[in-house]
Amino acid sequence: MPDQNNPPRIISGQAIDEDARLDASVRPKSLAEYIGQKRVKDNIQIAIEAARSRGEALDHVLLYGPPGLGKTTLAQIIAHEMNVPIKTSAGPLLDRKGDLTAVLTGLEAREVFFLDEIHRLQPAVEEVLYPAMEDFRVDLIIGQGPGARVHPFPLAHFTLVGATTRAGLITAPLRSRFGIVHRLDFYEPADLLIILHRSAKILNIQMDESGAEVIARRCRGTPRVANRLLRRTRDFAEVRAAGRITREVAQDSLRMLGVDESGLDEVDRNLMLALLDKYAGGPVGLGTLAAVLSEEEDAIEEIYEPYLMQIGMIDRTPRGRVATPRAYEYFGRQLPKRQPRLF
Ligand code: ADP
Repeated sequence: MPDQNNPPRIISGQAIDEDARLDASVRPKSLAEYIGQKRVKDNIQIAIEAARSRGEALDHVLLYGPPGLGKTTLAQIIAHEMNVPIKTSAGPLLDRKGDLTAVLTGLEAREVFFLDEIHRLQPAVEEVLYPAMEDFRVDLIIGQGPGARVHPFPLAHFTLVGATTRAGLITAPLRSRFGIVHRLDFYEPADLLIILHRSAKILNIQMDESGAEVIARRCRGTPRVANRLLRRTRDFAEVRAAGRITREVAQDSLRMLGVDESGLDEVDRNLMLALLDKYAGGPVGLGTLAAVLSEEEDAIEEIYEPYLMQIGMIDRTPRGRVATPRAYEYFGRQLPKRQPRLF
């Protein structure tokens, strides 16, 4: 959670306050508008067509990957394409078994229930999901103490769409109950260009191809960040240039926002410099890095690291994080003669 010491980062894939209005206007509503992620899209399209032609609920779907890559969007699209309503909740919001039971018993046949941050469900609450997903049933406990009785209550055949940034934290019994499991990857620059042009059109922003290219390269492969940088750059273009996003305008705007050519911001640079300079390239344990940066371990693992690993700046080893030769080069540091031992 952002706090005073750690203000929201412009390049974070997590939603921040200013995104809400933006999301509503540019979020794709149908599979045809959903750019990239071809493998996931093709698979889901076939599953949806098959379920629709049988008149059945779609199998339960688990989507995982870093924040801002389109998990919520895909859940909404699934409901749209299935032509059914969607209810939404998140793991940390369902404190007690009764909270989840109340949602489940209110679902209509084939309705989509989108459960974000599913890895953060309390174990006792998660157990309610098992019979609900498998047998479309919840076990209500009637009465108390020795006289209490279990009363099975049938549910409509619904579709659970679970989303998580931490697939490794999903328990085996929960994971095994999803028929369709997909990881969303960081987007290619070509797909990000399409997303940026689409958003610019919806928001009525004038943008050159070369301006779009600058943003596409620096948005960490993440549509949410692309849209946010686009909006910030539009503001910059209106105030400093004639309102049009050109290559120079995009470069100046991102420089002012502290986002470099590879999409790294100050927090990333601090992390990399701590690793390179303070710990001689590593290996360094996650806890130590978190302490040095005054950041949560979870935030490092969930948000910063996936992208730094994707662009080949750090490696994870059993003994901790290590800087790669590319990181030495990028930050203008001399590669030590004897490479730190990776394993
Ligand atoms: P997540 O749930 O994974 O954190 P979201 O689904 O909320 O991410 O996506 C964040 C924003 O990024 C959306 O509002 C949407 O505008 C944009 N977006 C995500 N995926 C796509 C896509 N495949 N095509 C176009 N825009 C996308």
